[in-house]
Amino acid sequence: MPEAGIFAAGTVMPVTRPPIPDGAVLVENGRISAVGPLFVVSRNNPEVPVRHFPRSTIIPGAVNTHAHLGFRTKDAPPGGTFSGWLTKLIERLPEKESWTAEAARDSAREAVEAGTTFMAESSPYGECLPQLAESGMAGTVYAEFFPGDYEGSGPREVVDSIIQQVREINEGLPERVRARVSVHSAYTVDPESSRLAARRTREMGWTLAFHLSESPEEVEFVRDGTGGLADIFGSNGWGGSGVSPVRYAEGIEMLAPETIAAHLATGVGEEEIEVLARTGVAAAHCPRSNENLGCGISPVPRMLESGVRVGMGTDGLWSSPSMNLFEETLVAAGLHGFDGATALRLATLEGARALGVEGETGSLEAGKWADLAVVEVAPGGLDPELSTLEAAAGGGVVVTVAGGAVIYNRTEG
Ligand SMILES: [Zn+2]
Repeated sequence: MPEAGIFAAGTVMPVTRPPIPDGAVLVENGRISAVGPLFVVSRNNPEVPVRHFPRSTIIPGAVNTHAHLGFRTKDAPPGGTFSGWLTKLIERLPEKESWTAEAARDSAREAVEAGTTFMAESSPYGECLPQLAESGMAGTVYAEFFPGDYEGSGPREVVDSIIQQVREINEGLPERVRARVSVHSAYTVDPESSRLAARRTREMGWTLAFHLSESPEEVEFVRDGTGGLADIFGSNGWGGSGVSPVRYAEGIEMLAPETIAAHLATGVGEEEIEVLARTGVAAAHCPRSNENLGCGISPVPRMLESGVRVGMGTDGLWSSPSMNLFEETLVAAGLHGFDGATALRLATLEGARALGVEGETGSLEAGKWADLAVVEVAPGGLDPELSTLEAAAGGGVVVTVAGGAVIYNRTEG
């Protein structure tokens, strides 16, 4: 990577300010040091080489707030219902072991080629950390743990163990890749282990990932202790709490600004939105996965109005058709009636805010890492941000840059 370089394009969309025609981004030592019209940036930095894409638009790299890398499109369990899908997924876990690493590499590649520069990935015990670290993307791998795997251990031993494992896998990682803990869900992790994991990771200043209020079956399990998930896991001794998953999660101290809660697709009414806003928890919106698994539509506009931080997530390839976050966002724009600027912001800066990394990525601003995507797109149109998003969703990303390094370049064959 050269120490300094200028990326210039027909349009630069910083997201935090209006689009800049014939714009440029000056990158020094991996970070953005100036954004402005090309003639100004190049005049002030005459020695710095320029990569110029006159028929393209530069946007911030996509921030994927909820993904699983270890799945592949092939042999996905049939969708329709969440519990039906999960039953098949669990049946196939033994055969999956032989190809998880390859799937993770391919999924990460697909994300990079679609302009993703930051990813929050969740995998059992952080098994996909090597592939995220190799991909060139920045991000966090959330290590899921399952107390059922620890025969005879109590919550304290289980949580001690996962925290120790996550400390160990944090050794020797690239500067912008880290591992953290995920409490998988209300139906797989008991309340005491969940509460302890949330408390202890928060004390350490770690963020935490959680699947929350995803399916009608989860609502039924948490409230009544019955239904499709109870058929798989039993009532687990704690299903049937009498309240909604969001209320339940609040009661076990899972909801806080450090927590990213994925889905919130079902069972999220005004009362739950009030809880989400008050506790400061962030949401990852995965509309294609929700549609595929019969999980409903997350009330994202109401959450945003209430001040809840919301980012976009692709989920994994066994529930979702692609790792293209811009494609996911275009679906959200259609579902909720967002204009292009709102949608582009959700895919980038709002995702960074949801993950607490808005100081390092999510927009093109001096001081942040140079995380950007070059999108081939015809200029103009009524809604230039929407046209750019459509192009990026449809394979129009030609260059992806993370931390100033070109991690994908289709222009050089
Ligand atoms: Zn998920």
